[in-house]
Amino acid sequence: MGAALNPEQRAAVEHGDGPLLVLAGAGTGKTRVLVHRIANLVGRGVEPYQILAVTFTNKAAGEMRHRLGELLGDRVRPMWIGTFHSTCARMLRRYGEMIGVTPDFLIFDDDDQQKTIKSLLKVHGLEDEVSPRSIAARLDWAKNRGVDPATVETGLPLDDIMKVIAPAYARQLAREKAVDFGDLIVKALELGRHAEAGPLLRTRFRHVLVDEFQDTNLVQYELVRTLSDGTRNLTVVGDDDQSIYAWRGAEPRNLLDFDRDFPDVLEIKLEQNYRSTSVILDAANAVIGKNLDRRGKALWTEHGGGDPIDYYAAGDDRGEADWVARTLRGLVDDGACSPGDACILYRTNAQSRALEEQLRRYRFEPRVVGGTAFFDRREVKDVIGYLRLCANPDADSAFERVVNVPPRGIGGASVDKLRAYAQVRGEGLLAAARDVARGGGPLGPGPRKKLAGFVELMDGLAAVQAGGASLAELSIQVVERSGYRAWLDNDDDGGDRMRNLAELVNVASDFDQELGGEGTLAELLERIALTGGADDKDGRGETVTMMTIHMAKGLEFELVFLCGLEDGLFPSLRPRPEIDDSAALEEERRLAYVALTRARKKLYLSSARLRRVWGDVKQQVPSRFLDDIPAACFALPPGGRRARVTMPAPDVAARPPRPKRPARDELDQRAWDGDDVPSFDLGADVSTDADDGVDVDPFSVGATVRHAAFGPGRVVTTRGAGWQRRIVVQFSSVGEKTVDARWLQPGG
Ligand code: ATP
Ligand code: MG
Repeated sequence: MGAALNPEQRAAVEHGDGPLLVLAGAGTGKTRVLVHRIANLVGRGVEPYQILAVTFTNKAAGEMRHRLGELLGDRVRPMWIGTFHSTCARMLRRYGEMIGVTPDFLIFDDDDQQKTIKSLLKVHGLEDEVSPRSIAARLDWAKNRGVDPATVETGLPLDDIMKVIAPAYARQLAREKAVDFGDLIVKALELGRHAEAGPLLRTRFRHVLVDEFQDTNLVQYELVRTLSDGTRNLTVVGDDDQSIYAWRGAEPRNLLDFDRDFPDVLEIKLEQNYRSTSVILDAANAVIGKNLDRRGKALWTEHGGGDPIDYYAAGDDRGEADWVARTLRGLVDDGACSPGDACILYRTNAQSRALEEQLRRYRFEPRVVGGTAFFDRREVKDVIGYLRLCANPDADSAFERVVNVPPRGIGGASVDKLRAYAQVRGEGLLAAARDVARGGGPLGPGPRKKLAGFVELMDGLAAVQAGGASLAELSIQVVERSGYRAWLDNDDDGGDRMRNLAELVNVASDFDQELGGEGTLAELLERIALTGGADDKDGRGETVTMMTIHMAKGLEFELVFLCGLEDGLFPSLRPRPEIDDSAALEEERRLAYVALTRARKKLYLSSARLRRVWGDVKQQVPSRFLDDIPAACFALPPGGRRARVTMPAPDVAARPPRPKRPARDELDQRAWDGDDVPSFDLGADVSTDADDGVDVDPFSVGATVRHAAFGPGRVVTTRGAGWQRRIVVQFSSVGEKTVDARWLQPGG
């Protein structure tokens, strides 16, 4: 990449101590400045461990680490580079005991959070009054702003409920030794302000640097301010036009009014865009230019001209996905690009499903970045639930998730009784179940016996864990002993589900290897909660990356496909209680600006006339953003853009009916928001068309294989067939063993 820097960039890179602000448009080299500045600091004697660099997605953090590795080699290792969430988690594990946070705390994802709230609403007889989602939203809202959720006065009836539920929720999390995403930041801030921990952190992190600063919320800003309080070595870079998290409490004012708190700040502006062609910049600038509430920046590029934008109006969402996959296949086959050059962007997680399907059809291997699709699958969540209960017997949410999965005759009524009993005794559900098993409590002999069986199962798993089993082995034991495998064997799509579980074991196994077997179960669960598992792994085929626009912040690609340009979808015109309508539309425009400016060479835009939404088919109108883009930017005269929507009517009836969805109101509306929140729509129902290749037995005698727990080995012989198949393998680690085929990966 070389060390080319223009004079403004160089000034920022070489700035010595003291606050620094770089406020500039997309692709002007802000992240590059941050990276070079860190390298420069190290060159001037700052120890790598004294650097704390924060950004917004795991992918962006990985990219930053990678770029720094190229400049600094191994010296990048001791640096803390991560998202706010992962950085705060790390801080709390290291220093949290000073404020009463145990080092082995668990992190609740949104699903855990909602389940806990739901069960608390039941305990307090409030389940008919309010949805868990509203409570969760209010909790997050308060935490993002650093206020106590129990005491927020909005004049709404919810206030009174929050007075009860918020403290109960906090107590429950404390008992489960858990924190939610909001807590991570709030507690890290508490740590930063603590009399002992604060000075420690301030001495340790001599330089704090934040990328994408426009999207920090109040608490995050307070945190970095507190951490750099002594040195005032705070570097922030950002672009107000790319603020896309207002709905989650982001405060672009943190960026725009930075000089209020740091009057002596060195402020640097960058105006040359090095990323995109002028066609792409013209399109992006035209869209963002419609926003009234912005500073406005000059942005120019030396990359004149460029390929015009291709736009396709499809008949329906499947036709759209087909066009994307077909176009990309054509480009790749012509040698015009490689699959890794392209990225497919969309507004909401739910859109990925059709795209994944069509990509497979065109022999691509889709990779959904940041979509927690995999870890959101039911079977995966269930097994993680068992692991969580292993990690912490007080994890009631996990107990409730798995106590009757696979079904073992412990019904809702029994759990209700158990919950009431546990409440009275002031202990967790597993502890109460243990007491019931011994003869205590209000349950009849039948349920008592079944609970006893469950307690025995958990005790058995605890023994496996105590016996020093690797995390991969423990995961396998969970699947076996819980009866999950036997359950799936009787299930039609058990094969797919089992493959997902095998993949989960692989994640555990990779983690074991990465940390030399030193990683704890709590750390593995943290990895899963924060990053959706291990680092992105490339599939075998031609991998095509796809993600929501929110996830794409800061990244760049040769070609970008932006799908679903339809009013109502993008811009999403869903009312947002947190911000008024015009502000919401401006945020959508910024999101479009982010999307368009990810492309270096070429943009492909698409929309569908009919789109399936929550199982309904809806008529769609092309996005108003298409009208904002100058006609000259398009390959085809855009005059006919709206009129050209004359594709043959899609054959809706011929489709298999989609699985029944919950009513829309019940759904987490944030699934629509395309953030990193799991989408319900990515369940195990993704069809696999990719079986047209010739099947070669990967486990023939002599083949090299890899077992999730035992590592590499060579096949000695095989027995049985299908899912019943057992393989005898000579492992280099443990010698000969007979193992289940589904724990084996072909090719050592
Ligand atoms: P975004 O707002 O999207 O986060 P950014 O401002 O962080 O963008 P970078 O990602 O740092 O921009 O840079 C965009 C591209 O321009 C990168 O490929 C980068 O290597 C390149 N670039 C930046 N500055 C220069 C330069 N002075 N000379 C050559 N290339 C540059
Ligand atoms: Mg950047």
